[in-house]
Amino acid sequence: MTGVTATQTGARVRPPLSAAEQRTLRAFAEAMAPAVGDLPPAAGPDPAPGTVDVVDALEPLLAAMPRRSLRGLRLALRGFEWVAFPRRFSRLDLPRRRTLIAGLERSRSAAKRDLGLLLRLLAGLGYTNDRRVAEAVGQRSACAVAGPEPAAPPEAPLGDLEPAGDEEECDFVVVGSGAGGAVAATVLAEAGHEVLVLEAGPYLDRDSYPEEPLAAMVGLYRDGGLTVAEGRPAVPTPVGRAVGGTTVINSGTCFRTPAEVLGRWASEHGIAWAGELEREYEEVERMLDVAPVDPETMGRNGQLIREGAEALGLSHAPLHRNAGRCSQCSSCPNGCRLDAKRAMHVSYLPRAVAAGARVRAGVEARRINFDGERAAGVDCRAGVADRSRLGRPFRVRARRAVVLAGGAFGTPELLLRSSFVSPSGELGRNLRLHPATWVGGRFDEQVRGWDGVMQSYAIDEWKDRGVLLEATFTPLAFGGAWLPGTGFEHQQRMLAYGEVASTGIHLSDRSSGRVAIGGDGSLRISYRLQRRDAELIAFGIARAAEVLYAAGAREVYPQVSGLVTLPRGRIADFEASPPPARALRLEAFHPMGTARMDADPGRGVTAPDGAVHGAQSLYVADASLLPSSIGVNPMITIAAIAARVGRGLAERAA
Ligand SMILES: Cc1cc2nc3c(=O)[nH]c(=O)nc-3n(C[C@H](O)[C@H](O)[C@H](O)COP(=O)(O)OP(=O)(O)OC[C@H]3O[C@@H](n4cnc5c(N)ncnc54)[C@H](O)[C@@H]3O)c2cc1C
Ligand code: SF4
Repeated sequence: MTGVTATQTGARVRPPLSAAEQRTLRAFAEAMAPAVGDLPPAAGPDPAPGTVDVVDALEPLLAAMPRRSLRGLRLALRGFEWVAFPRRFSRLDLPRRRTLIAGLERSRSAAKRDLGLLLRLLAGLGYTNDRRVAEAVGQRSACAVAGPEPAAPPEAPLGDLEPAGDEEECDFVVVGSGAGGAVAATVLAEAGHEVLVLEAGPYLDRDSYPEEPLAAMVGLYRDGGLTVAEGRPAVPTPVGRAVGGTTVINSGTCFRTPAEVLGRWASEHGIAWAGELEREYEEVERMLDVAPVDPETMGRNGQLIREGAEALGLSHAPLHRNAGRCSQCSSCPNGCRLDAKRAMHVSYLPRAVAAGARVRAGVEARRINFDGERAAGVDCRAGVADRSRLGRPFRVRARRAVVLAGGAFGTPELLLRSSFVSPSGELGRNLRLHPATWVGGRFDEQVRGWDGVMQSYAIDEWKDRGVLLEATFTPLAFGGAWLPGTGFEHQQRMLAYGEVASTGIHLSDRSSGRVAIGGDGSLRISYRLQRRDAELIAFGIARAAEVLYAAGAREVYPQVSGLVTLPRGRIADFEASPPPARALRLEAFHPMGTARMDADPGRGVTAPDGAVHGAQSLYVADASLLPSSIGVNPMITIAAIAARVGRGLAERAA
């Protein structure tokens, strides 16, 4: 594992970590994960047979990581090796390594705490990826729907996904096949136009989704799922990269944007139609089979959150999802093995293809071709579904328009790479994320969150503050590393993961960030969490802890650096002096706003009809359009707006 290895194509590639860095990571994993019960031990610096080698498990993921992040990670590993200076971490005996890791987590230095946490997460991801670990814990992924299983998809439901030759022509080229692109393409194709959909990622379906969590991250996500908005704290913000976009791996929750938010879009951004999305919402909900989760069959995770809310007298309700009769499995982030979830590749895209659209997978648009101000097509690389490949040139000419739907990162990235300058100066700015965190609780009963619907129930008591709680079971791969303790204590808790319930908290943020192209040519995403938003997230953590205790939890795990558990008696203190922004461990799943709509070309990148200000025949139909944080999961709003953009375009082109 330490030298240069050969790939199937014969190319020789270096492993992402050096031998010394691998040694540090293995030494950390070995200290964290000794054998307990049926849990296998993690391999140490000299891997023994039967152990779980986290370095081996993580290698494909690290290879998919953005170069910039990998550089940071390698630096962190090198720094960690010397935290016990003048002694090297990997040469310490196991008890000393454990004492050192525990000490780091209590350190007064935020940098040291962050370093320890980074390695804990990385080692945890690699360790829990091993099938033996899930088996020891009893976690299984068994999918079920109430009633008969959805029929298997027809052979090649999207037709031929390979680009023909070096060049194709169409009326409209749609770049991106997610919530926005798939819907815009369908509307345009059904209006009789010749539509070509380009998707950088691969086509995968219920028979071909990778089973292991890390393989799914590499196969279905941009940057192997390690896309990060830099800042304090840094906010991991995964997005999908596959035919169907992020809808392939999302949780399927469907909310309409609250009327007050849409009202502000009209008054503050001149979007006259904002309050008139009823027809589009209805169509999308019908098409995606949106229905409330059944509280009886949703599983114990959601039921505990509901019981906690009831005990405290809070406003709560089952979530609506685009998964109809789904009742069990929790593998949404790896793709739905039953097609219960009506992601775009099993809903809108087949409809678009039936109306004549062509879908091309593994084709990344690299540059928009302009003829003066008019967008005339895109220059692409074809054959890049496997991102390690360079691909070949492929050109698309669009007779009518280019429609960008690469998502809140992909769309500004393509515009910036095409040297497009927005007259507003706002391109890539105004990034909103809905920063989120999760709070786990351990119960004296078997919760077995995997035996239920992954995201199932909402508490909207604090919607006026923009704080929404959604009962979301966090699979072992993502939650295991957060369990308190090191070594044997940590492993005991891991074995009892079936007793953990969890809820997500997300915030309608006022903080903002930016997408830009860095000096090394890579995409740079930054985000600055304002103090007010950090305090609101802490408020949400306190409320979630109360809900979990009210439901019977005996310990609660907040994702706050330096605070391993949040005892019931400490909640008031926690709120009275909330942690600083950088101590919050956040994630985000709803990037938006980077090509925001505004009727005023001086304030928005796009007009209310999706047209890019300052260009002709160039439109946007995705999450980048949203001019503010919406406070709820955005998928069906993006789909509804894309339908509107598509319809406007089709009418003008008629
Ligand atoms: C883990 C997770 C869970 C989520 N859960 C929910 C949920 O429950 N409910 C909800 O409402 N929302 C959820 N979301 C968010 C939701 O899925 C997204 O907001 C939505 O899919 C965004 O739609 P989009 O069309 O803007 O982009 P995407 O759906 O991300 O699609 C963009 C596509 O464009 C492709 N692309 C980008 N650039 C190029 C290029 N240059 N050339 C070719 N192709 C390109 C990408 O590969 C991608 O496939 C979740 C997100 C995540 C990550
Ligand atoms: S929980 Fe998600 S992956 Fe599992 S059946 Fe339901 S929709 Fe599909």
